[in-house]
Amino acid sequence: MIYDVIVVGGGPAGSAAAAECAGLGLSTLCIEEHGTIGYPVQCAGLLSTAAFAECRVSDRSVLNRISGARVISGMGSVLSIDAGTTKAVVVDRAILDRDMAEAAANAGTEFRMKTAACARGDTHIRTRGAYGHEEFRFRVLIAADGPRSTIARLTGMERARTYLAGIQADLISDCDPHKVEIYPDASPEFFGWSIPSGHGRIRVGLCGTTDIPNRFLAFMKKFGSRTVHLVSGTLPLSIMAKTYGNRTLFVGDAAGFAKPTSGGGIYTGVRSARHAAAVAAEACSSDTFTNVALAGYEQRWKADFGHELEAGYRLFTLRQKLTPEDIDTLIRALNDPEIISTIEEHGDMDRPGKLVKKLLIKPAVLRLVKPLLSTGLRSLW
Ligand SMILES: Cc1cc2nc3c(=O)[nH]c(=O)nc-3n(C[C@H](O)[C@H](O)[C@H](O)COP(=O)(O)OP(=O)(O)OC[C@H]3O[C@@H](n4cnc5c(N)ncnc54)[C@H](O)[C@@H]3O)c2cc1C
Repeated sequence: MIYDVIVVGGGPAGSAAAAECAGLGLSTLCIEEHGTIGYPVQCAGLLSTAAFAECRVSDRSVLNRISGARVISGMGSVLSIDAGTTKAVVVDRAILDRDMAEAAANAGTEFRMKTAACARGDTHIRTRGAYGHEEFRFRVLIAADGPRSTIARLTGMERARTYLAGIQADLISDCDPHKVEIYPDASPEFFGWSIPSGHGRIRVGLCGTTDIPNRFLAFMKKFGSRTVHLVSGTLPLSIMAKTYGNRTLFVGDAAGFAKPTSGGGIYTGVRSARHAAAVAAEACSSDTFTNVALAGYEQRWKADFGHELEAGYRLFTLRQKLTPEDIDTLIRALNDPEIISTIEEHGDMDRPGKLVKKLLIKPAVLRLVKPLLSTGLRSLW
């Protein structure tokens, strides 16, 4: 049998792609190297309400609802934001992933678990796993195999240029149950976080490039509580040079679509998956699988969120230049009732560009960031 589409990877991006392809009437196979969808969990599970809606599942996985945030500098300044309404949800990622895979299966996707892609030709992949060594043929391959994408390596694609490592622990702790906390100085290349996940628990973690275990141990001391569960993972923070080629479309973390401002990858992953499915369906219906035909995928995701990711990467680069003093000054400058209400009104975890534009015209912010303009902020917009 030749499948119209084979999706490699049963994470959120893979399941979204498979559900969409099967829903469009394409014969679809999804292969997943683990025996259970959703494990191991490598995520803080914080999704904007829009990102969660993109997953198109019931709220069975929702553990908590978030309406605001506190940004806390190492020097003690605090910026507190509260939109007064649910802006994000905290989910059980294992349940979310399983719900999404179930939706893909209900749409007609065939799943092959405990099966890892280990080699590919132009129109087939070879796998190894619970069923031994197998070969499956495809017309289009969708690579949704995460940050360490085997398919990208096998296809000879240039990978993302920045990767962050992350560690997170679940703790029992008293905290404001509806506000996340951001600690920029806990990890100088990115930030640390504390996310209330309901029932008196918080998820405390950080991402960065170096010295992660030591930074994490130092950060954890702030919370001084019993660790219930520990996770670690990798975040690709820059898009691969080309996200299609050789009958293959790269989606989600495999393409490097995690947002450089927050590390969140589910919103862009799921949206990229739907763009990939639409292009796969067009290719199958016209029986044309050239790179020219598949290039439409890159046009689609660029028009959708490409600008946000590009601007986000510039902000990430700029963040590398900020000292703890700069961050403290920035937090104090933003601590102005008019600015806070702008953030509460326009803050969007998935598309922060609009808010940044609005903030950059505020005199207090402009005064502060002016010295940084020559270092790259000007090129943001
Ligand atoms: C510490 C940390 C915290 C995070 N917190 C958040 C957050 O709060 N919110 C958010 O939106 N994002 C968060 N992210 C990012 C988010 O987890 C990813 O962006 C998201 O999981 C990407 O989905 P995906 O489907 O592209 O890849 P994945 O979820 O990585 O799924 C890839 C799947 O492919 C399978 N696979 C891999 N190789 C093969 C192979 N050769 N053959 C078959 N199967 C294979 C894997 O087993 C896996 O199931 C976080 C990441 C980290 C590291």
